Amino acid sequence: MADCIFCKIGEGQVPSYKVYEDESVLAFLDIHPCADGHTVVIPKKHFGEIGDVKDNEWQDLMRGLKIAIQKVDEVLKPAGMNVGINNRKGAGQAVPHLHWHIIPRYEGDGGGSMHSIIRNRQIFEVEEVAKRF
Ligand code: AMP
Ligand code: ZN
Repeated sequence: MADCIFCKIGEGQVPSYKVYEDESVLAFLDIHPCADGHTVVIPKKHFGEIGDVKDNEWQDLMRGLKIAIQKVDEVLKPAGMNVGINNRKGAGQAVPHLHWHIIPRYEGDGGGSMHSIIRNRQIFEVEEVAKRF
C-alpha cells in the first residue's frame, strides 16, 4: 500500500536489519527495541489488522512467524520471548500494517508477562461477560 512504511520495508525500498525472510513474511529488528533482539515480523502483503487476513492466508504467515521466533531463539538464546500483536490503534498499534512483535526476555530484565499490559478494575463479573458469547 502506498505510503505504508512496512510495505516499503517488505519491498526492500526502505532498509532494515533482516532476521528472516520468505515469500510471505519479513522479520527485521525493531529500530526502537524494548530489548536486545526485539524483532518485528510483517506479512509482505498489506493487512491492516488480524481480521483482514483470509482463512487460507494464515498458514504461510504462521510458518514464517514460527521460523523467525526460532531464529531469534537460536541466535540470542533468551530465557523466553513474548510474542504478540498490537491489534488496532486502541491496543497501541502505531503502524497500520499487521505485524507481530517478538520480544526476547532475559533473566532479571524486570519485565512482566502479557498480564502486565493492562490491569484495570473489573467492571463486569466473568459470568456476565460469558453470557454475551
Ligand atoms: P506498533 O506499535 O505495534 O505499531 O509497533 C510498531 C513498531 O515498529 C515499533 O516498535 C517501532 O519501533 C517499529 N518501527 C517503526 N518503523 C520502523 C523501521 N523503519 N524499522 C524498524 N522498526 C520500525
Ligand atoms: Zn503496508
